[in-house]
Amino acid sequence: MTDIKKPKKPRGVASVIAGRCIACGARCQSACPVNCIEMTDSGEPIVESAKCIGCLKCVKVCPTEALEMFFTPEEQKLLAELAGEAGCAVEEELDEEGQRIQKMLAGYRGVWVVIEQFEGVTAKVSWELLGTGADLAKTLGVQLSAVILGQDVRHLCNEAFEHGADRAIILDAPVYKNYRTQPYSDAICHLIGKHKPEVILMGATAQGRDLAGAVATFVKTGLTADCTGLGIDDKRNLMQTRPAFGGNIMATIMCDKYRPQMATVRPHVMHMPELQPGRKGEIIHEAFAPLEEDVLVKVLEIINDRDGKDQVDVAAAEIIVSGGRGLMGKENFALLQELADELGGVVGASRSAVDAGWISHSRQVGQTGKTVRPKIYIACGISGAIQHMVGMQDSDVIIAINRDPEAPIFQIATYGVVGDLFQIIPVLISRVRDLKSKNGSYEPERAAA
Ligand SMILES: Cc1cc2nc3c(=O)[nH]c(=O)nc-3n(C[C@H](O)[C@H](O)[C@H](O)COP(=O)(O)OP(=O)(O)OC[C@H]3O[C@@H](n4cnc5c(N)ncnc54)[C@H](O)[C@@H]3O)c2cc1C
Ligand code: SF4
Ligand code: SF4
Repeated sequence: MTDIKKPKKPRGVASVIAGRCIACGARCQSACPVNCIEMTDSGEPIVESAKCIGCLKCVKVCPTEALEMFFTPEEQKLLAELAGEAGCAVEEELDEEGQRIQKMLAGYRGVWVVIEQFEGVTAKVSWELLGTGADLAKTLGVQLSAVILGQDVRHLCNEAFEHGADRAIILDAPVYKNYRTQPYSDAICHLIGKHKPEVILMGATAQGRDLAGAVATFVKTGLTADCTGLGIDDKRNLMQTRPAFGGNIMATIMCDKYRPQMATVRPHVMHMPELQPGRKGEIIHEAFAPLEEDVLVKVLEIINDRDGKDQVDVAAAEIIVSGGRGLMGKENFALLQELADELGGVVGASRSAVDAGWISHSRQVGQTGKTVRPKIYIACGISGAIQHMVGMQDSDVIIAINRDPEAPIFQIATYGVVGDLFQIIPVLISRVRDLKSKNGSYEPERAAA
């Protein structure tokens, strides 16, 4: 039998597109594995074509797409032929390292969500992540698994199935009763070694952040914290989007050479999936359990740190009346509280108001505060800095009150009121009171309409 040799795909050589380079600091030169890029005095690259091996590394790192691959007419013809031959396998020329990575990546399949629970009650963010995980698993054509650790937590498997998991991997043992970094991270690392998932998601809670960081360190993979968007590219890489550089840009981060790909997501960032009552799945019991005497940290007592402190959960509220620097002082938050009370909502704040000491940090909405998704968000005297908006832009209805018509908050507001909040809020309060006295009750949906 004749062995038909598969055609090799031409790789081309890198070339610079005139006018696009912003002299970013020679990222292309640093990425080149064969040192074929020289920089001019003005910080632009010159590629030595004869040495270029067409690895694409410079093209990928360039922030302005100033580099492209150049193909000779013969190479272009061959590329066109290859593209036209349906079903013809094009052999990618991978170096030894590339082949090793490709083989390793192919060994990892499946999407996992690590379910966070305390005394058998799940953190809602875990269910939100099952919704996102289901979308990712569908795109990848793999199963979605919920990983459950705890004591007497078997009931959570059914809850996980009803929220979209296909499988539940459960470790049920006394050593997992309360979260501790050591046994939990040992367990997740053990499961990763055994099942090799390609994606692992955890809530960006105190526990999730601790566990994800420990696991990523032990298994030597990448971790993107506080993602606001997750997707899959054409090479099965998880595209992890999150604010960067103080929230001024959104960066999409990929971990294309290591597995699993790990990400944490804050509560309320993703939509809660629709509950599918009675949905079933496969339960996999795992016996791995570290010995209690080998665990260095002991839980002696659990003290509820919310006792006596501000108990309002801004993140869970359906109506939020938030105040910013425009409130001018601590005492003026009473006005917002009055409106919030009339609407059955809670008071939130921008960081400026928190930093000024007008309200506690637990009420802060935004990048370094809470992410909220209420039915109605009323922003009073808040300019709409990006760091604030990333925390509230997914609210169903946004009402902005600001005396500056150019305030950025108006760009995302459903309704905008240009004017002095100290005149507008009392009018709103009295209008809501009127409506309530006429209708007997207040309904957020009708108010929003
Ligand atoms: C790394 C980082 C993280 C951050 N995290 C957060 C975060 O989590 N949350 C957050 O909110 N910010 C955060 N910030 C701060 C953010 O950049 C802004 O500084 C902050 O949001 C501004 O708050 P503000 O809108 O209340 O104040 P300002 O920007 O000063 O706006 C006050 C607004 O009030 C209006 N105003 C004044 N008087 C009245 C009046 N009488 N009636 C009506 N309108 C009036 C003004 O026109 C103005 O638009 C962060 C910044 C950084 C660098
Ligand atoms: S394609 Fe690869 S070898 Fe060629 S210049 Fe870019 S980084 Fe260097
Ligand atoms: S990476 Fe792009 S922008 Fe930066 S120096 Fe190279 S060509 Fe210019």
